[in-house]
Amino acid sequence: MKKQTKALHTDYPRKDAYGALSMPVYHAAAFEFDNAAEMSDVFCGRVIAPDYSRVMNPTVTNFEDRVKALAGASSVVALNSGMAAISNTLFGLVRAGGNIVTSRHMFGNTFSFITETLPRLGVEPRMKDLTDLAQVEAAVDGNTACIYLEIITNPQMEVADLSALAEIAHRHGIPLVADTTMIPFTEFSSSALGVDIEVVSSTKYLSGGATSIGGLILDYGHFPEFTKMTKGELLFNLGAYMTPHVAYMQTLGLETLNARYAVQSSNALEIARRLSRHPAVLHTGYTGLEDNPFHELSLRQFGPTAGAMVTIDLESQEACFKFIDSLKLVYRATNLFDSRSLAIHPYSTIFGPFSAEKKREMDVLDTTIRLSIGLEDVDDIYADLCQALDAAAGK
Ligand SMILES: *Cc1c(COP(=O)(O)O)cnc(C)c1O
Repeated sequence: MKKQTKALHTDYPRKDAYGALSMPVYHAAAFEFDNAAEMSDVFCGRVIAPDYSRVMNPTVTNFEDRVKALAGASSVVALNSGMAAISNTLFGLVRAGGNIVTSRHMFGNTFSFITETLPRLGVEPRMKDLTDLAQVEAAVDGNTACIYLEIITNPQMEVADLSALAEIAHRHGIPLVADTTMIPFTEFSSSALGVDIEVVSSTKYLSGGATSIGGLILDYGHFPEFTKMTKGELLFNLGAYMTPHVAYMQTLGLETLNARYAVQSSNALEIARRLSRHPAVLHTGYTGLEDNPFHELSLRQFGPTAGAMVTIDLESQEACFKFIDSLKLVYRATNLFDSRSLAIHPYSTIFGPFSAEKKREMDVLDTTIRLSIGLEDVDDIYADLCQALDAAAGK
């Protein structure tokens, strides 16, 4: 079966009592057993079956199975947010006295988790330029737990060479961990590029119109100890498993992901092309544009689409605020890949709590607007952006 068919036809192995076409939502905390021996088998991991919804639930398993079939992963765990997927993954990999080699260019909460939360447990962040392989090579040592990166950084839009980073990681016997939220895992194989563990905020493309918060760990089975730990320890001890209702909504989202992504990524490319020619826009960030410095690498790694996030730079923060205040169709909201188009000024919001110096280090500029392009008609989206650009320029 091709991917889009698998998204709809990966069935739950046990038939529903009523033959329901969509996976029922099992709103149950616990599941009953016929006898003590069966119960012991499941609790000791000799038989895989749901016992308690903190660690396994049939509706969530169905969602995980579909993701697994689509991505070709060996094990998938669904969690209650993208941050839960990231924090559980890193908790599973690090030890006190160890370090993580990663970049200053990344999602604000991940940056804070790696530079504030983990150091309290004795883990050292090594923030490097991941596009400079010599820097990465020099930073990795015998105490490095993993190399961690985002495939297209948000909001700087930087792309690193995954195969080259994987080569360094594997030579040192450590995993390459990639946050692939920016391009759906249905569009490219991160595993073929050398990624060992993939983390995704399923809040974004997958949830289907921003219905719910969720996250995924896709494990390609190259580090068997990690695979054992996610389901055997982290779900039990950290308690961040996805809830059944969210799994239900995100399964519906997965069924339409392909169709939605096709429209959103083509709308985004068209919007980026038009904005890059607009006189009030100083710079347009989108790896799908031919003159983007990461265009070739993005094409080679992720295929012909470049996602639905576009950034623009205006002449000042004041112009950005006027632009945002003048939008009539595009929503003033955070989040990415909602069916509706969204705009935000990352410097004063998502990165607001960071000092000006930190933001400078992270290349988060006060002149940048982040747009998430939705499913609306592309001419309507562009018309709204244009009138807001005119308003920002005092026209
Ligand atoms: C949104 C986002 C996250 C966090 O996901 P949540 O579901 O909001 O916890 C992590 N990484 C990237 C790249 C994101 O865009």
